[in-house]
Amino acid sequence: MREDHFGEFDAVSLFCPRCQRPVKVNKKLLLILPGGDKYDYTCSVCGDSLGSKLDKDGGYPGVSFQ
Ligand SMILES: [Zn+2]
Repeated sequence: MREDHFGEFDAVSLFCPRCQRPVKVNKKLLLILPGGDKYDYTCSVCGDSLGSKLDKDGGYPGVSFQ
């Protein structure tokens, strides 16, 4: 039984359409919103934007951004 949310990717590696392979991504804090922090993920090879994600507060115990 798994409950994976497909849209919930983490910043390890993503497939880059431009590089045509999985690449390491850079996670960049875009916005701090009341509902969470918005991050932008960019390819560490070509710099293309690969997506963004809203990290909700409290979703990541052990990781905190002040
Ligand atoms: Zn790339």
